[in-house]
Amino acid sequence: MSHCDCDSHHPALMPMEAALEHLLAAARPVGEQEQLALDAALGRILAADQQSAIQAPPADNSAMDGYALRTADLSPEGPNRLPVSQRIIAGGVGEPLQPGSAARIFTGAPVPPGADAVVMQEQTERDGDIVEIRAEVSPGQNIRRAGEDIDVGQTILEAGCRLRPQELGLAATAGIGELPVFRRVRVAIFSTGDELLEPGEPLTPGKIYNSNRYMLLGLLRALQCDIIDLGVLPDTLDSTLDAMRQAAGQADLIVTTGGVSVGEEDHVRAAVEQLGELSLWRINIKPGKPLAFGSVQGAHFIGLPGNPVSAFVTFLLFARPFILKLQGASALTPPEFTVIARFDWPRAGSRQEYLRARYLPDGSGVEIYPHQGSGVLTSTVWADGLVVVPPKRVIKAGDRVGFIPFSELL
Ligand code: AMP
Ligand code: MG
Repeated sequence: MSHCDCDSHHPALMPMEAALEHLLAAARPVGEQEQLALDAALGRILAADQQSAIQAPPADNSAMDGYALRTADLSPEGPNRLPVSQRIIAGGVGEPLQPGSAARIFTGAPVPPGADAVVMQEQTERDGDIVEIRAEVSPGQNIRRAGEDIDVGQTILEAGCRLRPQELGLAATAGIGELPVFRRVRVAIFSTGDELLEPGEPLTPGKIYNSNRYMLLGLLRALQCDIIDLGVLPDTLDSTLDAMRQAAGQADLIVTTGGVSVGEEDHVRAAVEQLGELSLWRINIKPGKPLAFGSVQGAHFIGLPGNPVSAFVTFLLFARPFILKLQGASALTPPEFTVIARFDWPRAGSRQEYLRARYLPDGSGVEIYPHQGSGVLTSTVWADGLVVVPPKRVIKAGDRVGFIPFSELL
């Protein structure tokens, strides 16, 4: 891969779309599959289309507790009194319904041959073996038709979908007990920086706590990755080289935060250049301008910025779709919705900005967190998502703006 000279003194910032396209073009899906029981497949990516071998529901069945009957037996004038000839429970099977009779029936029980409607219990009066029908009943009423949900042979799930609870429920409806999924993507992560302490340790002068490690662990877990956590590296080239080699031997992808700026304590970049290939991009977005991308001894590499909000946003915008592609997912980028700005953004920036924003409770639009600094992680907790402000754009309250909800990303 060609090295760009993005870090020269007159850098051309790379547009977001070009960077993402470049990144995704390089992602090699893992491809390997495993067969999992439904309960174990939650959150994984389906590896093959699934067809139903049955129709669902398998038979016409009652939507109510009540009485199955033939509407032709009822007269508009009434009274309509029918002998109750049988009782059909869910899981049972009825006899053909004799003309002039009704069957006691329960929700989910198959409708007996001959019956063409079910009248709900609340519209009847029972007197011994006789039931009086006290409502008008039309053919088909309260009957769930065989196959009204799923046809035989119907494709119910498509390869590349993420298996949410409802996908698992639908597979089960069709009687499918196991699903082929792509294997988990193995991601090695480490943080860099002599300033980093682990939460729980006493804070000492010059230090800060390592927030990115826990944020990244959470992001990768939410994406169903197998994680190889290499912890924090000191700012030395040797330790960075060691960690890179170790990571490359085990992982499909190495993700780091920090150490990719131009300072002489930034060794991630040098290590990747020594062991593999590196592009260092300055992307036309804010937060999160620097992004490193390449490969180390056969493993993909993404180097996120160190600033926590930048790391978070660049993970969502770049690492997330990259990982989804490795996983074999078909939807890589989140939908961007249009919402009404309930804030002013008077100064047009030269970069595309991703503002931490949240819905107003009255549904009238979104407001932004007052401090949008790239180290202010509070903004990400406060927010429901990201407002996208294109370069050179000014926003006035009432304008329509693009919004990516975190619910689509996390
Ligand atoms: P760097 O890219 O290493 O120069 O880091 C940029 C900024 O992000 C610095 O203020 C770092 O202290 C901070 N930073 C880097 N890594 C982390 C981390 N894992 N957790 C919290 N802050 C970090
Ligand atoms: Mg650093």
